[in-house]
Amino acid sequence: MECKRCGICCEKGGPILHHEDRSFLQKNLVSLDQLRVIRRGESAFNPFTDRVEPAEVEMIKLAAGTGTSWECPFHQKNGALSGCTIHGDRPMECRVLKCWDTRAIEAVVFKDCLTRSDLLGADNLLLGEILAHEERCAYGAVWLSIEGLKGNSRGVCLAEIQAVLSEDMQIRARLVAQYELTLVQELFYLGQLMFRVVKDSTLTISFNNEEVQVRYTG
Ligand code: SF4
Repeated sequence: MECKRCGICCEKGGPILHHEDRSFLQKNLVSLDQLRVIRRGESAFNPFTDRVEPAEVEMIKLAAGTGTSWECPFHQKNGALSGCTIHGDRPMECRVLKCWDTRAIEAVVFKDCLTRSDLLGADNLLLGEILAHEERCAYGAVWLSIEGLKGNSRGVCLAEIQAVLSEDMQIRARLVAQYELTLVQELFYLGQLMFRVVKDSTLTISFNNEEVQVRYTG
């Protein structure tokens, strides 16, 4: 079998970048707004389970813009045929992916993923802020509190969820002001706004008047 250039894989989502892709990044083919950070614990599609689940590791993915589309920014459609505008330089996952035989991609997915620390380097001023944000605003803590809503300490769990989501917004506001970050930089350094990512059928989460509100709606 061979690739029929249907483009479905490129439309569903750009590749996750691995250590092997450092040379691809060094070619400056990609801009910051084309890199999407998936933080550890953030909801992400798991091809092994075919479900959206908390990511076990931090990942950096190629994705179009800062919107909701996961389509690869280098994907181009020409009639029924799809093309890759960087075919000769495409990242490792794209080179090993064969949709008719997924063994090669399964062997590399989630392994040796590049992280923000790898890209920024130890001497970057923002790295300490990013790591502190990871510690204080961990997705894992939020999912645990959501699980706790089923028990007897619903009020405490709601307060914990609200505290983490609020702190995420406070840290962003401080860093944006202190380092004069653009929206693209903020989303790369700190990931997506947590109150937008965290979803549960029992919760209504909103952000009004600079405050995150979390309500239990059962
Ligand atoms: S880099 Fe090219 S092959 Fe890889 S997902 Fe993007 S368009 Fe498709």
